[in-house]
Amino acid sequence: MPVLPGLVDTHVHINEPGRTEWEGFTTATRAAAAGGITTLVDMPLNSVPATTSVEGLRAKIAAARGQCWVDVGFWGGVVPGNTGELEPLLQGGVLGFKCFLSPSGVEEFPHVTEADLWEAMPELARLRAVLLVHAESPALLQPIAGNPFSYRNYLESRPRAAEQDAIALMIWGSRAFGTRIHIVHLSSADAIPLIREARREGLPLTVETCPHYLTFASEDIADGATEFKCAPPIRERENRERLWAALDEGVIDMVATDHSPCPTGMKAGDFGSAWGGIASLQLSLAIMWNHCMGRLSACPTLMSAAPAKLAGLQHRKGSIAPGLDADIVVWNPAGQPAELQHRHKLIPYRPQDFPGAVEATFLRGNKIYDRGHFASTPQGEILIP
Ligand SMILES: [Zn+2]
Repeated sequence: MPVLPGLVDTHVHINEPGRTEWEGFTTATRAAAAGGITTLVDMPLNSVPATTSVEGLRAKIAAARGQCWVDVGFWGGVVPGNTGELEPLLQGGVLGFKCFLSPSGVEEFPHVTEADLWEAMPELARLRAVLLVHAESPALLQPIAGNPFSYRNYLESRPRAAEQDAIALMIWGSRAFGTRIHIVHLSSADAIPLIREARREGLPLTVETCPHYLTFASEDIADGATEFKCAPPIRERENRERLWAALDEGVIDMVATDHSPCPTGMKAGDFGSAWGGIASLQLSLAIMWNHCMGRLSACPTLMSAAPAKLAGLQHRKGSIAPGLDADIVVWNPAGQPAELQHRHKLIPYRPQDFPGAVEATFLRGNKIYDRGHFASTPQGEILIP
């Protein structure tokens, strides 16, 4: 059976405290352990308070303590007016920062304007902190025109140009201020030439995409199938193939889940009203393993080494090597998918389409998961640098 370094997922929304009924530390980190993820980094929004102040970070740490089955780190948030909080947040233990260029979906985490960015980015450069960006330009997003149950209409409301425009802005800012930028959940393959060019120029820019953009195609999504709703949206088949080519080329550095669950009832309704988010924490290794079959090195690079480096954890995480944490996954390509551990089970995937299962997960040398069974107590650490 293949033995892999424990996966590092740098894009996970655990909504505790405040929206724990959406997802909590216990359910999310057990899903991670069952999926071969030994380290995850929690996003600064969808919990209340948001992690945009030291007080918010303290609330996160207090909520997480004693509930983590894998190691957990935290991103802080950049929102309008909190530039003064960035240094204290970094000193308090966040691994970097995240911002939205368009509305985030929750009111306590407002998006930043260019003026906010030009204030925060020099400070982040001074602190040598990375800025993760939800890159869609609000000026190019529109309300859904016509039937809100039509996937086509939803897709057209969030065009590729919105991503391209936002990424161009971030490249401009990175060049101007020297800030390290990471584009989260790239969906539009049209932005790839821009990204390739910026990297050739030597700008500090990394990019992730998600399993759902690499798996599904808009042509196959039925009207009303809001379990597929996420933002930016899943695009056409031709776009998906170009994302794969960019992964092969190395222009896209990594794959993270953007695990963003909500109560099942919130996924009901039309593409305007349903919550945008896909929960795939436990399934990402199975999905990517099946896609990358025959390329043994792909999963560890895209899902361990590169995200560990993004989060500044490469001295402990991301590979099997002397001196690093012994975070190890034993993968059984012939295993039966295990029961899902995250809180709300509505997902667009059919697990039987992605055969294989985690046989065992080791965290710092201790076996924390063994074919459907967990260690008796949670052994995850909170990763405070
Ligand atoms: Zn997200």
